[in-house]
Amino acid sequence: KGKKQAKAASKEIKQTAVLGAGIMGGGIAYQSAVKGTPVIMKDIAQPALDLGLAEAAKILGKGMQRGKVDAAKMAATLNNIVPTLEYSAMKDADLVIEAVVENPNVKGIVLKETEEVVADDTIICSNTSTISINQLAKSLQKPERFCGMHFFNPVHKMPLVEIIRGEKTSDATISAVVAATLKMGKTPIVVNDCPGFLVNRVLFPYFAGFSKLVLDGADFVAVDKVMEKVFGWPMGPAYLLDVVGMDTADHASGVMAEGIPQRMQKIDNDPVTCLYRAERLGQKNGKGFYNFG
Ligand code: NAD
Repeated sequence: KGKKQAKAASKEIKQTAVLGAGIMGGGIAYQSAVKGTPVIMKDIAQPALDLGLAEAAKILGKGMQRGKVDAAKMAATLNNIVPTLEYSAMKDADLVIEAVVENPNVKGIVLKETEEVVADDTIICSNTSTISINQLAKSLQKPERFCGMHFFNPVHKMPLVEIIRGEKTSDATISAVVAATLKMGKTPIVVNDCPGFLVNRVLFPYFAGFSKLVLDGADFVAVDKVMEKVFGWPMGPAYLLDVVGMDTADHASGVMAEGIPQRMQKIDNDPVTCLYRAERLGQKNGKGFYNFG
């Protein structure tokens, strides 16, 4: 068994596939491509694929302006991203990273359909932020080849990737995903499956504490200033919530409160929920705690 695992662990990822060309899928495809691994980017709609490609071109364009990327690198990176609407295009992928909408039913279907087209030893990961890896693994015939691979937004800037080990994930799968993460220029940490994994388990109780402060009458701008300028964090909680998005934050805090009720409760009139209901989603639609011009 040990020998078999060692062989699988050395499985080189020569081709990646990403399901979903949204904020995260597009970012993950760019990251794979820029580090030299060709990537199939699959979505269900052509406009979504166009947006994913445009985002990659935008990041590269900024790199060119700063003199960090030349025309050859830009062309090679864009050539490495192959957009598709067909599952069959992923048939030779060594690693598939699912980054479709955060809905367990949709993800379950997509994972099942993926397993039907890829090879027996293809590794399958999910970029889910809040859904249990053990739950998603139930959609697969071979759950040992599956784990979480949780990137952070924006993918090209955030170094961390949480690799989430499910109950049935094999050591070989974890080793191969750790190697693939390093090849993508990111820093992997391996964690067990639990609500919030590591980062969100720390972050969301912090957001809940911030919400309570605001409800107690604190000025969110003043809180941000203290956390940034005096405490030294790169941004305060209100600004960070604007970056994360009120829809994502509201959903994730509900999942966290349900998953670890002994540590975190959903608060009545939570400012995050109120902003979400008022369609102040944060940076993504130009207004959240702050207004973005
Ligand atoms: P998004 O809405 O920007 O993109 C989702 C994409 O999936 C869309 O382009 C949509 O067309 C596509 N899609 C939907 N159904 C599909 C299907 N059946 N097959 C292929 N593509 C399909 O969402 P996002 O913010 O990129 O989030 C994607 C995943 O990443 C979610 O699981 C989310 O929890 C996770 N995540 C998001 C963030 C973040 O900050 N946005 C951070 C970490 C993880």
